[in-house]
Formats: sequence, C-alpha cells, structure tokens
Amino acid sequence: MSTFQPLESDASFQPDCELCREAGGVMVFQARHWRVIRVEDEAFPAFYRVVWRPHVREWTDLSLAHQAEVLGVVDAVERVLRATLSPAKINLASLGNMTPHLHWHVIARFEWDSRWPAPIWAPSAREVAPAPRERLAVGLDPLDAQVARAVAALAPGA
Ligand SMILES: [Zn+2]
Repeated sequence: MSTFQPLESDASFQPDCELCREAGGVMVFQARHWRVIRVEDEAFPAFYRVVWRPHVREWTDLSLAHQAEVLGVVDAVERVLRATLSPAKINLASLGNMTPHLHWHVIARFEWDSRWPAPIWAPSAREVAPAPRERLAVGLDPLDAQVARAVAALAPGA
C-alpha cells in the first residue's frame, strides 16, 4: 500500500482543503500526479476515488495531457471493478461541490444496494442484509491490491 504524502511545498497546496491535507480514504496507490483511494463507506464498499494531487478546482484547469492521464486511471479502476465484481452499473462522477479539489468517483453499483437505482447521494431506499461488503465477490484487501496493480502500470516510470 502507498503512503499518503501531502504536497505541502507545492504552490497549489490549500491548508483548509481536506484532499490537500488528508488522503481522503484508504490509500491504494500514489503516483506523481494522482492517487487512488478507497472510500470507507459501509453502504458502498467498492467505492474508489481518483484524486489529482495538486489542488485543482475544475476539470478544464488540467491540460489535455493530464486529463488523458486521469481518464486512464479512471478507466483502469472501472475495468477492475467490472472484472472482479460484475456490478449492475459503474457510476462515474466528478462533483466537488463540497470539496472543490478535482477528483473522480468510481463506484460499483448493485441492484441490492440501499439507493439503487438512484445516485448514491440519494436518501436510503432499503435496508441491506447481509452487509454490502459481505456480498462482494472478493474481499476489499484483494480488491485494493488488484486496483493498485492496474493503476501502477499507468504511473510514469512504472
Ligand atoms: Zn485541495
């Protein structure tokens, strides 16, 4: 597992921004420009985020080359989730209203999940038992390891 290293010496660093200060979840992999974390959400266990490491507010603040780099990482995470979990749907989202530091959500969705078919941010529609993480085809540690392997292949110098 990678260790989170804040970019405190970078000109973009915002001390009051959560994604500048903290990893934002379980560290899966960190490259020079981005990191992949897994969000610890009991309702949505297969929920990853691709975070651009410098503090950037909007998608169009990135160069086209950096946008392509981010989309390559999002693509790799989605492919692992599809191959290992066979979800009903993958949800991709980039909102940033609460935390305006560029990040993409990559979320495996299932027809049994508590908000299906609404977005994960909708009110809960049903109780889920057994617990969501127990319903996944693989455990979270091996899933993290597969995601890390897939995105490591995209890191410059890898
Ligand atoms: Zn930030």
